[in-house]
Order: sequence, then structure tokens, then C-alpha cells
Amino acid sequence: MAEPLIELRGVSKAFGNTVVLDQVDLTIYQGDAVAVIGPSGTGKSTVLRLIAGLLEPDSGEIYLKGQRREGLTDEGRDSVGVGMVFQQAALFDSLTVDENVGFLLYQHSKLPANAIHELVNRNLEMVGLSGIGDRYPAQLSGGMRQRVSFARAIMKNPENPADNPEVLLYDEPTAGLDPIASTVIEDLIRTLQCAEDGCTSYVIVTHQHSTIRRTANRVIFLYQGKVQWQGPVNDIETTNNPIVRQFFAGSVEGPIHIVST
Ligand code: ADP
Repeated sequence: MAEPLIELRGVSKAFGNTVVLDQVDLTIYQGDAVAVIGPSGTGKSTVLRLIAGLLEPDSGEIYLKGQRREGLTDEGRDSVGVGMVFQQAALFDSLTVDENVGFLLYQHSKLPANAIHELVNRNLEMVGLSGIGDRYPAQLSGGMRQRVSFARAIMKNPENPADNPEVLLYDEPTAGLDPIASTVIEDLIRTLQCAEDGCTSYVIVTHQHSTIRRTANRVIFLYQGKVQWQGPVNDIETTNNPIVRQFFAGSVEGPIHIVST
């Protein structure tokens, strides 16, 4: 097995009196393509925010390449040097789509504006949104905004490949998209994983069957604060785990309690 890239050891997190994660152990390996799945409200996004360094655990430890992370992260580059991008980050309302997608390059690279503009256009085209660079987020539908934030997350810096993220964190990247737009994003997630300069890792939170199937090699199932099951994506068909079986059958009968969220 590849090297552990990210490890959560005994991580707990509560909001008020609600314990969302209860001593969770979870490992992401170099080159991993993992889907974190489970019913709504079980802490999947919380896991991503902890990994991204946007939240701190109440107890337990987070290791990146074997080094313990202390504190929160600064602009996606972790103190121990693991570049991460969190796709769900909000767009800046006062900036155009072009300025949002190219944000990091406009801020931190020496590339001329027209070169950044070209990279932005290429990414917009990849997510099926050519020609909307001049619009503002408020002028877009929810699904379009989501794809713009995706286009921003996958922006690479050709000037300095060392700045390119090693880990992409996707929070429901296909939620609310129609089936064709979903397929575009799912195929992109796959193709983006490996480029000339090597393979990255990603963790994806999703509910959508097609997204689990098309993007994940491995699945981690969270429920009631714990990892209830994990295994290769094909094993979700054959596992006897009653929680996993109920979830994929969409059944109201079984160990998962129906809650109104
Ligand atoms: P999931 O992604 O599995 O749907 P989340 O990680 O978003 O679940 O949330 C898990 C639970 O924690 C939910 O009950 C949610 O309301 C709560 N929660 C998440 N973030 C916060 C926060 N910043 N403040 C208060 N409660 C939160």
C-alpha cells in the first residue's frame, strides 16, 4: 500500500451538545481516490473541513505525511507543506467569474493577465461553461456557481508546479447538477487525478451513486460519528454490512434512523 498522506487518529468533534465525530480513525493514501459517504448530517463535510485545516478537532490528531498538524491552515498551504484545495469554498461576489477562477494566479503569480485569462478560459471550458468569465456569481444559477468553484479548485500554476495541490477535497461537486453535467464533472475528477507531473489524491463527499461509482476507488462510510465500513468501491455491492446495504437500497427499514434534516 502507498504511504499514508493524511491520517485522522481518534478525532472527535462536537458542535454544541452534538457529537458529530466520535474518535474517528481514517487514513488517506498517496494516490487515493476516496469517497466519504453516509446519511446527511453525519459529519462528512466536517471531515473535509478538518482535513483542509479549516476546523480544529476537539481531541485526536491529524497527521499530514506523518507530521502532526498544529493549528489551522493558511490559504490552502499547510504548515507541513501539503497543498490542498477545498472545492466548496465560496466565490467572491464582488469579483467576476474570471477573477474568481484565476484568483490565486492573479494574486500570487507573475504570469501576465492574458496568460491567466487563457488558463481561466480553458478551465471554464473543461467544466462546460465557456464564455461566462465576465459574469458575476449573482448572475449564475446554483449549479453554475458550483462548477465555477470547481474550475477554480483545479487551477494549476504553470510557473511553479510545486504550488499545485497534492490533495483535492470535493464537497458534493455534483449535487444538484443534471445527469449530463454530473458526468462531465465526474469524468474531469478522474482525468485530473493523473497528469504529466504525477498523480494527486482526492477525497470526495457525495451522495450521488454515479459519482461514487465513477470517481472513487475506495469508500469510507460514516454514520453516528464513526467509520462504519470501508472498502473498495465494488464491495459496496457484496458487503453484508447492514448499514451499507440499507443506504444503497434506499430502504427506510434498517439500522439507519430516518431523521429530518
Ligand atoms: P454531512 O456533510 O454529513 O451532511 P456535516 O459535516 O455538514 O454533515 O454536519 C454534521 C452535523 O454538524 C450537522 O448536524 C450540522 O448541522 C452540524 N454542523 C456542521 N458544522 C457546524 C457548525 N459550524 N456549527 C454548528 N453545527 C455544525
